[in-house]
Amino acid sequence: MFEEVLDRGFVKLVDFMGGDYSVVESARVSFGEGSKGPRQDIRLIRYLLKHKHETPFEHSVFKFHVKAPIFVARQWFRHRIGSFNEISLRYVEYRDEFYIPDFMRRQAEKDKQASILEPVEESDALIEELKEHYRMVRAFYDKLLEKGVARELARTILPMGTYTQFYWSVNARSLMNFVRLRADEHAQWEIQQYANVIARMFRALMPVTFKFFVDFVFDGSSGYIEKLRDEMEEWNLEEIYSQMMEEGSLNYARRRWENGTGREER
Ligand SMILES: Cc1cc2nc3c(=O)[nH]c(=O)nc-3n(C[C@H](O)[C@H](O)[C@H](O)COP(=O)(O)OP(=O)(O)OC[C@H]3O[C@@H](n4cnc5c(N)ncnc54)[C@H](O)[C@@H]3O)c2cc1C
Repeated sequence: MFEEVLDRGFVKLVDFMGGDYSVVESARVSFGEGSKGPRQDIRLIRYLLKHKHETPFEHSVFKFHVKAPIFVARQWFRHRIGSFNEISLRYVEYRDEFYIPDFMRRQAEKDKQASILEPVEESDALIEELKEHYRMVRAFYDKLLEKGVARELARTILPMGTYTQFYWSVNARSLMNFVRLRADEHAQWEIQQYANVIARMFRALMPVTFKFFVDFVFDGSSGYIEKLRDEMEEWNLEEIYSQMMEEGSLNYARRRWENGTGREER
């Protein structure tokens, strides 16, 4: 599963272990039991999320490859429950990759942390200036390397809009916490775009968990998450759950993601 984000970023699912069935298995292991059939299993997942009994979700683990601007990665790395490995600009030379927004959006007046999704008056001219600024940074970086300056020092001139890449392994419980905080409209717009993609991949792999996560855990405000949840009204979850048990969540979700259209995960 792969999706482009922003102008040059992406989220790629590298690996996955677990799924909705794994939640049920983990919850019932204490009684030495497994599946009791789709209907009862789905009810159990609903119960677990409604009552914040979240440890059974820790046995499903996602591994993502992410390319994002440094300022997004900085926010992402604050999520301590998970594992990260990042590309090193001490080791590799930086490539010419800076984030260029579609337009320069406006600062919100009341909320100091927020922005308004509207361009400021001279947005186009400011975008051109930003590009010029990036060209100058690039030229200076190249000059430093030509003069023999160490990569670990040359990189200090790179701005926060420089793209970086990292691997992120995270369990479903912590992923839900990430989506709850970062898909919410109070999060910075750029990280929201990544959280939306993570949410959609999460829905593809663990549709039952996703549904009740939105119903009982997601307390933020996000039109995108609501849309993902609304689309599921037409889904036959019992059928999907049974197929996922047969095929394995990853195989089932991959097939749907690759072959489908707008509702590929069904
Ligand atoms: C809109 C928004 C604005 C933000 N603004 C700022 C800001 O201005 N400045 C700033 O510094 N950060 C800011 N943050 C980051 C925020 O404070 C968190 O660091 C980040 O969202 C990670 O959340 P988390 O701790 O729940 O996640 P994780 O670190 O993944 O932790 C998951 C959960 O594990 C538990 N946990 C983890 N570590 C501990 C621990 N040491 N002790 C006890 N329990 C633990 C908690 O229950 C926690 O919710 C902002 C986040 C958002 C979403």
